[in-house]
Amino acid sequence: MPDSRYWNPHTETLPLDRLEALQERKLRDLLDWTFARAPWQARRLREGGVEPLSVQTLADLRRIPFLTRADWMAAQEADPPYGPVLTQPPEAAIRYHTTSGTSGGRPLAVLDGAKDWEWIAEMWCYAFWGFGVRPVDTVFFAFGYGTFVGFWGAQYACEKLGALVLPGGNMSTEARVRMLADCDATVVCSTPTYALRMAQEARRLGIDLPGSAVQRLILSGEPAGSIPATKALIEAQWGAKAGDTAGMTELGTVMMFECDHQPGGAHIIEDHYVEEVVDPATGEAVGYGELGERVVTSFGRGFIPVLRYRTGDLVCRVSADRCSCGRGFDVYDGGIRGRADDMKVIRGTNVYPGAVEAIVRRVADVEEFQVRLYTADGIRDEIEVQVELAIGGDDVLAELGRELAEAHEGLRFGVRRAEAGSLPRFELKAKRLTDEREVWGGTGERKAL
Ligand SMILES: [Zn+2]
Repeated sequence: MPDSRYWNPHTETLPLDRLEALQERKLRDLLDWTFARAPWQARRLREGGVEPLSVQTLADLRRIPFLTRADWMAAQEADPPYGPVLTQPPEAAIRYHTTSGTSGGRPLAVLDGAKDWEWIAEMWCYAFWGFGVRPVDTVFFAFGYGTFVGFWGAQYACEKLGALVLPGGNMSTEARVRMLADCDATVVCSTPTYALRMAQEARRLGIDLPGSAVQRLILSGEPAGSIPATKALIEAQWGAKAGDTAGMTELGTVMMFECDHQPGGAHIIEDHYVEEVVDPATGEAVGYGELGERVVTSFGRGFIPVLRYRTGDLVCRVSADRCSCGRGFDVYDGGIRGRADDMKVIRGTNVYPGAVEAIVRRVADVEEFQVRLYTADGIRDEIEVQVELAIGGDDVLAELGRELAEAHEGLRFGVRRAEAGSLPRFELKAKRLTDEREVWGGTGERKAL
């Protein structure tokens, strides 16, 4: 294996028919296990007309009712603290974790057992190995090691594949930058936003990151890891290659990774998941090349069966031959493009935060930015972008306004320069959009005040 570019040379290169046969076998096992051990999920399946033998092929998958975050949360709130989703008693678990809770309200709490953690680490191994991390590497984690699952699994993956871990929890940004430079880290793991934040801090400290030992960044936690302009900026500021990954707490680990051929997207780990892409409104499948919502079925979890989970992530799936690495795993072109519920309607025009970021990062040398939606004169939706500029002046602001309008059917964006250091900084998931409108765009529905 050390000579292979694949973590699992067998499954990563299976021809499509054999990959699908493997998925179908695992799918049948998953259904059997769910009916045997998970009464809450089994009842939902039966209510949807599904019996143990009614799912035999991938085509049968669509018979299974969707599971939404709202379903899971409602079940958890009715039966706290974990809800009826577990297949084993809580004392059989070895770890508690929660969602990051950026969408407001109470986070979802999840338990995992020893088998889960072995698998969680295995999924990250596909990603790390696939992006070129090897046992000789020294990996710095800019991560808080709290209840948010984040890079926990990646830390165990490093132990599994034999790389040295530098656990940068509970440290200031300055201390992290000094440590990763002093200890000659060759790989750094963080969110895309925090990778830029550390690069700013390194400049302030006079530490030359492009001249440091760092060769690779593994990004996760935000869609920006696959926004070309943001990624190019990160690669330039670090003098290193940046690879995107994406996972979610509900699944406990990553489900996709960018390989070292950097195809502009992420391979789906198809021997451990079935991923479907559906129209968010109708739930019907969409084809290759069309934007839709990811729906995940996981084969790896040992504590909680996850079947047809609506992720809310918007993706565009293309076939495996998009990439030249030889994997048989399909690719999400552009990684996760955004969230289905991220879209804002401003005076009839759809605005996605990810699309705004792609333009802001391309046009200007921006230290940080914020997008604010508000109601002007008690009636009119307005969108304003505040930017902290490293260099450049009014001409850059005007250019940014023009580019944003051009990409949004002529929609006028207010572009304003913010004082250096005045905008919020983020370590985990960045929140760069605030919606202060009195009337929600598009729906006419009055916001509860
Ligand atoms: Zn590839």
